[in-house]
Amino acid sequence: MASAQQIVVLGAGVSGLTSAVCLAEAGWPVRVWTAAMPQHTTSRVAGAVWLPPRPADRASDTLAWTEHSLGVFRELAEDPGCGVQLAPAVAVGQSTAAEAMSSAAALIPDLRPADPSQLPDGFRNGFLATLPMIDMPQYLDYLTRRLAAAGCEVEEHPVRSLAEAADAAPVVVNCAGLAAGRLAGDDTVRPLFGQHVVLTNPGLRQLFLEINGGPEWTCFFPHPQRVVCGGISIPDRRDTTADPEVTERILHRCRRIEPRLAEAEVIETITGLRPDRPSVRVEAEPLGRARCIHNYGHGGNGVTLSWGCARDVVRLARQRETR
Ligand SMILES: Cc1cc2nc3c(=O)[nH]c(=O)nc-3n(C[C@H](O)[C@H](O)[C@H](O)COP(=O)(O)OP(=O)(O)OC[C@H]3O[C@@H](n4cnc5c(N)ncnc54)[C@H](O)[C@@H]3O)c2cc1C
Repeated sequence: MASAQQIVVLGAGVSGLTSAVCLAEAGWPVRVWTAAMPQHTTSRVAGAVWLPPRPADRASDTLAWTEHSLGVFRELAEDPGCGVQLAPAVAVGQSTAAEAMSSAAALIPDLRPADPSQLPDGFRNGFLATLPMIDMPQYLDYLTRRLAAAGCEVEEHPVRSLAEAADAAPVVVNCAGLAAGRLAGDDTVRPLFGQHVVLTNPGLRQLFLEINGGPEWTCFFPHPQRVVCGGISIPDRRDTTADPEVTERILHRCRRIEPRLAEAEVIETITGLRPDRPSVRVEAEPLGRARCIHNYGHGGNGVTLSWGCARDVVRLARQRETR
């Protein structure tokens, strides 16, 4: 693509890095400008697990994005250095879990109801499956390396406006997470505060996820060197200070489900603001003489949706090339 136009991607979280990887590997000259480097983003805080779309999202683009990402994560799981693995998983809860997992039957061939004897005390309904689990610090390093191999560096370069980026490139990709709304003049983006407690791994392999539709739930993601424990979601809280009482509640709930976590040491407590929006925005619009492709508003699903949304970013960039 010798005449390809320069593209500036704003943001170095999972949305920005994945979009930049897909664009750079498709032949565009790409620069990533970011306020915070990858290890200081919300993306680094995610657990993270690929999850099937909620029943309400089954008819939307979300299903296609989720499905495409699943295929890519399955391939990546064969690369031991990238932080992705296919992990045994147990998902529990009452009707919400059944509803959520029922949408996944076509995507996850080994999804099956759990026998009550396979579930922790207090839970009568649950599912077993193999799901992509992503160790985000390692995975963000992997995406950054892959981007560098495609000739693109991540630059610390916060912008005050989309127009500022448009001065440097005819195509701007807005992957600025929670800040993307402000840059785009979109006031429907809002934070959902989240907190994780990270422990040493005492030998766990199976991830655990309670789906209850409430503000607090129990989950833990056992990566090779660390177990990420959660979970909580507080709408509109912008203060990212970790709450010690939330830490205690997370530890108490997770240790009740998995007593081996009582032996594990706390490595760190991490927090992040999920960039929530009524629906994910992946679309292009004019930006003066340039063009902006938006990719933001992924809420608690940005990792799950990353490869599917990035594929659409490439599709929208191609439309520009052929105009
Ligand atoms: C506790 C928690 C658990 C989660 N668990 C999961 C999970 O299991 N599965 C899942 O799929 N998702 C999960 N998520 C959601 C996921 O983390 C987010 O949806 C995702 O990280 C959003 O990625 P992003 O790249 O859009 O935003 P971010 O990671 O926030 O990145 C935004 C980037 O934009 C940059 N930026 C901001 N302003 C500017 C500016 N003015 N100029 C230039 N750059 C700018 C920032 O510096 C940053 O680099 C979880 C989130 C939290 C908080």
